[in-house]
Amino acid sequence: MDCLFCSIIKGDIPSNKVYEDEKILAFRDIAPEAPCHVLIVPKEHIESTDGITPENSDVVAHIFEHVAEIAKLGGASNGYRVITNCGHDACQSVPHLHFHVIGGTQLPAHCFPEND
Ligand code: AMP
Repeated sequence: MDCLFCSIIKGDIPSNKVYEDEKILAFRDIAPEAPCHVLIVPKEHIESTDGITPENSDVVAHIFEHVAEIAKLGGASNGYRVITNCGHDACQSVPHLHFHVIGGTQLPAHCFPEND
């Protein structure tokens, strides 16, 4: 299977690693939208939140057990936002489940700046 994030997990494509354990990898986004912009991915290929099931959801819990530590390692010391895009309308561009951890600066209060 030809998956960009699977290739990063295998080490075939380099990444700027922030955290790794047996289940997950966290690395800096190649096009950061804030001083801290880290992607957390499960090592098991899950396409998106649509692919989360009772059989694989433990890795999602694992991600959230480590998110505070990863945010700190990434440089978000005063709060952060966690986002996941699922599918076409959300502009998901890499079909491997990932959580954006964004911080290190004051973020707008809403996803849609016109609501601020
Ligand atoms: P999404 O649009 O939610 O699917 O997010 C995919 C993210 O992956 C985008 O923010 C991209 O900038 C990021 N990205 C794409 N290729 C790479 C790469 N080789 N290394 C790190 N981040 C990447």
